[in-house]
Parts: sequence; structure tokens; C-alpha cells
Amino acid sequence: MGKTVRENIKIVLVNTTHSGNIGGVARAMKNMGLADLVLVAPKKFPSDDAIARAAGADDVLAAAQVVESLEEAIADCQLVFATSARERHIPWPIMDPREMGQVIFGLDKNLAAKNIAVVFGREDRGLTNEELHLCQYHVCIPSVEKFSSLNIASAVQVIAYEIRMASLQKIAAENVDSSLQWGTNWDAELASQQELELMFKHFEETMQTTGFLDPENPRQLMTRVRRLIMRALPDKIEVNILRGMLTSIAKYKK
Ligand code: SAH
Repeated sequence: MGKTVRENIKIVLVNTTHSGNIGGVARAMKNMGLADLVLVAPKKFPSDDAIARAAGADDVLAAAQVVESLEEAIADCQLVFATSARERHIPWPIMDPREMGQVIFGLDKNLAAKNIAVVFGREDRGLTNEELHLCQYHVCIPSVEKFSSLNIASAVQVIAYEIRMASLQKIAAENVDSSLQWGTNWDAELASQQELELMFKHFEETMQTTGFLDPENPRQLMTRVRRLIMRALPDKIEVNILRGMLTSIAKYKK
């Protein structure tokens, strides 16, 4: 296995039904130098099917972390990509796997993300809207419209391959001439998923206090606020500023 630039990329599988698929995912990951697998409430794990399909990637399975909820799996991540074969009701920032690789390795945007996750859905119905809305970006493999859904291990393979290609590109770029890179390093780390969730809760409560948000008829207000703020990829300092503002609104109201 070659040198990888990032060891902080998790692959998260939500409610996987077939344990053989988990093994297939482990193999796809190991081929491309990824090792961090998180399983959200899998139907059956550990299992012999998984080990068989892993075909030698048992170490990835043995190290896999099992958690109860997606929130728990991504709490410490600053950059979370959700994969989905379909467009959803409220459009979200979307990219293809190649663009995702560029973003992860700072070849496109220069983001200070320490921990990154790519989330995959259930074999039969993918991810719920709520789960998709926990993630900053949606990634879609541009398959043909009429038969768009890949097997989950195949989808992980495509994503892991693009991560690998971007990492090799990054290594090559660093060895050539670092002065060619544009931009500067960001001065603060991106806010984590958990910090964002706490802020959204704070936002919702404050908007209820002011009367702007009617809990009886919330419509899509918080979803749209969430999308707006997540599109900006706020860092920790910016989240603290926003929360400070919310606190000051609540105080002023009293
Ligand atoms: N019927 C489900 C498909 C689930 S396939 C649906 O329509 O959502 C299982 C998982 O594989 C998906 O949740 C997603 O994580 C991944 N996947 C499959 N096809 C994909 C594609 N074309 N682009 C991105 N991810 C895909």
C-alpha cells in the first residue's frame, strides 16, 4: 500500500442489511488505502459473510467501529459527504466523486478539515432526507438515469478510487512546486458536525423566542437555514460568533 496523505477519512455505512456487502466495502477500501470503517446499526455484524467477501481485508473489519446513530458516527467530522443516487426534494450542494477528491485534498477549495466522512445509505432505500441534511455535500456517481443505483460496495469502490487518485495528485503536486498553489491556509479549523448541530438547535430556539419560527408551522425554515449555513462551511470561530449573536438576541428580548 502506498503512502496516503490523509488517514482521517472515514467510510460510514448506515443500516447495512447484507453483511456480505460490508466485507465487499472493506476490500474496496483496503485496495485504495482507506482503513477507517464505521457501521451505523448494521443488521448483522460481525459475520462470516463479511469475512468471506473481505477477501483478506479482515483487518479493516476487525477495526470497524459500530455505533448507534449517524450523528454519533460523524460528530467529530468537519467535512461530511453523503452519497446518493437520486436528486432530492430540496436541492443541496452536489458534486461528482472526482470533485469530492479535489475538495478532500484541498486541490479545489482550501478547507481546514481535520476529520472527513463519506456516508453510504441502505441497500434498499439509501439515506433519509434527515440524514442527507446532516452532511455538507451530496456526492452522486453520474450513472445512467434509468438504472442509477450501484451496489453499495461498488459505490464505495468508485469513491475510494477517486480519493486515491486525488491523494496521488496531491503528492505529485507537493513534489513539484509548492509555490504554485494558490490561496493561504485558513486561520481556524472548520466547525465539527456536533458544533453545527448545537448551533442549529440554538438558532431554532432563538427564532421561536422571537416569534419568527412558529413551532406549529415550521415549514422548511430550519432546513433552509441549515443549508445556507452549511454551504458557507463555517469555522469554529464563526460558529461562536453566530451563537454569541443568538445569545444577545435572547437577552435583548428580555
Ligand atoms: N434505492 C436506493 C439506492 C441505494 S444503493 C436509493 O435510491 O437511494 C446503496 C447506497 O449506495 C446508496 O445509499 C449510496 O450511498 C450508494 N450509491 C449507489 N448508487 C450511487 C450513485 N449513483 N451515486 C452515489 N452513491 C450511490
